[in-house]
Amino acid sequence: MKIKEIYETMSYGPAPESAEEAIQFLDNHKRKFNLFINGKWVAPSSKEYFDSINPSTKEKLAQISEANEADVNKAVAAAKRALPEWANVGGHQRARYLYALARQIQKHSRLFAVLESLDNGKPIRETRDIDIPIVIRHFYHHAGWAQLRDTELKDYKELGVIGQIIPWNFPLMMLAWKIAPAIAMGNTIVLKPAESTSLTALLFAEICEQIGLPNGVVNIITGHGKTGATLVEHKDVNKIAFTGSTEVGKIIRRATAGTGKKLSLELGGKSPFIVFEDADLDSVVEGIVDAIWFNQGQVCCAGSRLLVQESIAEKLYKKIRTRMESLRIGNALDKSIDIGAIVDKSQLKVITDLVQLGVDEGSTLCQPSWACPKEGYFYPPTMFTDVSPSATIAQEEIFGPVLVAMSFRTHKEAVKLANNTRYGLACSVWTELRTSI
Ligand code: ADP
Repeated sequence: MKIKEIYETMSYGPAPESAEEAIQFLDNHKRKFNLFINGKWVAPSSKEYFDSINPSTKEKLAQISEANEADVNKAVAAAKRALPEWANVGGHQRARYLYALARQIQKHSRLFAVLESLDNGKPIRETRDIDIPIVIRHFYHHAGWAQLRDTELKDYKELGVIGQIIPWNFPLMMLAWKIAPAIAMGNTIVLKPAESTSLTALLFAEICEQIGLPNGVVNIITGHGKTGATLVEHKDVNKIAFTGSTEVGKIIRRATAGTGKKLSLELGGKSPFIVFEDADLDSVVEGIVDAIWFNQGQVCCAGSRLLVQESIAEKLYKKIRTRMESLRIGNALDKSIDIGAIVDKSQLKVITDLVQLGVDEGSTLCQPSWACPKEGYFYPPTMFTDVSPSATIAQEEIFGPVLVAMSFRTHKEAVKLANNTRYGLACSVWTELRTSI
């Protein structure tokens, strides 16, 4: 394209981030990853591996180990062995390790960001500017708490071996949220990343090796749900920290009941995004872009239910439709896209099926006129209007870029509609009103 033509359209050209360093990392491991147990890379007892796919291209990135019961036993035993020394080394020493982890992630932040985008399909702008900086802050922040534990948190005692099971929507960020506070307080870890996004956890394992974290303090085992279930059931695990679907959360709740294991669960949502007639609608539209199209809508606290006052509903829908038209979708490594790929084929099917159900149940579907690229697992930004509060798409979490809109007349009705869900999590209210409602 000539510069003169670019000036006429003012459209963005492709701006791909280089994947060279990330490819080098994968090649250094011969595209085949073992388990990180007791500070060493060990082949899985099952001898089984599964593929990790780049959802923007459907290309295979690497083979990942499937950990079985013998591997889970090894990892938990390593964490248990490491526990007394890690607890006794004291807050100051642990702070130094956490600080070193933060520093090394910071040093390799571009590699982490690219690898995350390759593996998950989320835009590089988000991994580079949001996910990885937050991960780094977490390790620095908890380095501070490790140091302060002996003076500020005198009553705190480590729980022991913690099994951590995380999902695929913010892979490294979830790892940081779980690992940083737990090791700061003197616990040791067995972490299982989600099967579709294990790569940044494995790079993190390499960082643990590089900084000389004592063996067994952090163990990373990969695999599917069965690996997670085996970890949950292990008798020497003192706590399970889980983030993922409500369905699996319930299974874990049942599996741990009566065992004395501590448990933290972070599950689904269907959060309301409430817009009153006096709101600044252009700000609202940008709020909606962040609420439901950020990370392809694969966010537990996504603002997936738009509740809008009837008097401005049509006006707002029109603005949203116009904005949808200008969103850009494409390869996660392109710096000038807004929306990346859906994490994998099965999740794409879940979204497609639920959208079809929305149409079948009588809601009005709105999608942009442009088509998604064919080479990856892409789904366009989507909005449903004319949705009844009891419709499946108004009640079930879709976990994709699908906004479900309903209107209300009075404040009371807005609150009723907002609460008409089994979920909690988030809510946002858009109004210029300064008095309480
Ligand atoms: P999502 O909708 O985020 O994929 P899942 O709950 O299926 O949610 O997955 C979140 C994590 O839980 C993943 O690491 C997955 O492998 C793990 N997992 C799935 N089934 C089980 C189970 N029965 N017990 C323990 N962990 C599980």
